[in-house]
Amino acid sequence: MCPDALPRPVSPQHPIEHLVIVGNGMATQRLVETLVRQAAAPRRITVIGEERCPAYNRILLSPWLAGDMTHDDLRLPEIAGQAGIALSTRLGERVTRIDRARRRVLTERGEAIAYDRLVLATGSRTSLPPVPGIELAGVGGFRDLDDAEALAEAAQRGGRGLVVGGGLLGLEAAEGLRQRGMRARVLQRSERLMNRQLDATAATLLRRELEGRGLEIATGVELAALEDDGHGHVAAARLASGERLPADRVVIAAGITPNAELGREAGLACDRAIRVDAWLTTSDPAIHALGECCQVGTRTFGLVEPIWQQVEVLARHLSGEATAGFVDAPTATKLKVGGVSLYAFGPTEAAPGQEALTYHDPQQGEYRRLLLRDGRLEGAVLYGDTAMGPWLFTQARAGTRLDAARQALALGQADVEALLAEHETPLRDTDSPEKEAA
Ligand SMILES: Cc1cc2nc3c(=O)[nH]c(=O)nc-3n(C[C@H](O)[C@H](O)[C@H](O)COP(=O)(O)OP(=O)(O)OC[C@H]3O[C@@H](n4cnc5c(N)ncnc54)[C@H](O)[C@@H]3O)c2cc1C
Repeated sequence: MCPDALPRPVSPQHPIEHLVIVGNGMATQRLVETLVRQAAAPRRITVIGEERCPAYNRILLSPWLAGDMTHDDLRLPEIAGQAGIALSTRLGERVTRIDRARRRVLTERGEAIAYDRLVLATGSRTSLPPVPGIELAGVGGFRDLDDAEALAEAAQRGGRGLVVGGGLLGLEAAEGLRQRGMRARVLQRSERLMNRQLDATAATLLRRELEGRGLEIATGVELAALEDDGHGHVAAARLASGERLPADRVVIAAGITPNAELGREAGLACDRAIRVDAWLTTSDPAIHALGECCQVGTRTFGLVEPIWQQVEVLARHLSGEATAGFVDAPTATKLKVGGVSLYAFGPTEAAPGQEALTYHDPQQGEYRRLLLRDGRLEGAVLYGDTAMGPWLFTQARAGTRLDAARQALALGQADVEALLAEHETPLRDTDSPEKEAA
């Protein structure tokens, strides 16, 4: 939560003459789309992105890797130009330095681009564990289209793929490799898959499903080293237990590191990421940061839902509108593996004062576990039939008292609504809280 989310006085210099945005990813695309619809949008917007291709839907790289989507499906709608706004995008160009004194950014091509206001939207990169062999060819992350294309090409040759990390991204990567023809194995340090989102029962159901498809899964294991094939390419992983696992390709999916270096080197206040206030302003009032490269209080970000909220705040702020600042809110998680329905939010285990309601039908592979405190929902894990997930999430966010429908809560939305209507409990309509694609 951001404690100081109060309306801030409108800055006098609007519209902004030249807004420069570094990074051409999901946050930038949405920010520009939103800005060009504002009455007092900047007169000139220049986007500088390191990736060579136009902005695309990064979220869909997982189904793309699994072969369920084409390049066309990844494409984001082109932003329509607006009268009075000059919009330009420089692709395949990395910004190497911010010259705050002269208000300009310098690029690797030796160009200097002046700004009146600067936005840093540089995202994050794969965190690489400091183990011997991590620099070998055939070892890398799953972060962008280049990574996805390299993985698809490697997988088509068959062989063994090893994914380090059994969270959302790791499982999606492993399933993609398997579907492309590799023998895929997941290494997870925790004793359960998706340990940040799932309780033990849901994690076991998920594991059984994935193993049934042919994925190999090892939990409670630690990567100790990666071994060379003698030509600088990975040949195997060595676990802390000493076990050796042959591997032709290794995907690291065990955390992300915010790309905060540009801000840090320019002297902006940084912690794990670039520190911003509730209006996404850094310690320099002419520079903003949003998305995975920013930090609000102690929080950094790895899912798009809070980033969309940041975009709304920053777009209005940049257009000179007074706005309540960004307030961090819980997010829900879905796994994008075809045929697996999973929806979760809130804590994985009941805390003191929380009670757990559970419904489990092992025959049908159905599992639902809700966490309530004083009749209000604080967490849920749904496996199998997840249709009720967004509705439950909406009620949790609205703080709806659900005591009157207690006996039906884990069964279905219609039953709950009928019972609550009998008791005249007001309900919130579902507001698509988990909407995620741009
Ligand atoms: C495979 C995959 C699946 C995902 N699935 C989901 C999901 O299901 N749900 C969900 O909510 N989130 C998902 N995410 C996370 C989501 O994609 C990110 O939260 C989101 O993309 C972050 O947006 P961003 O703009 O901050 O960073 P990014 O989208 O990463 O964009 C940052 C851009 O900045 C560029 N850049 C960095 N440094 C520089 C520089 N110095 N100069 C110029 N350009 C630079 C980078 O090349 C990149 O193009 C997924 C991520 C991946 C990789």
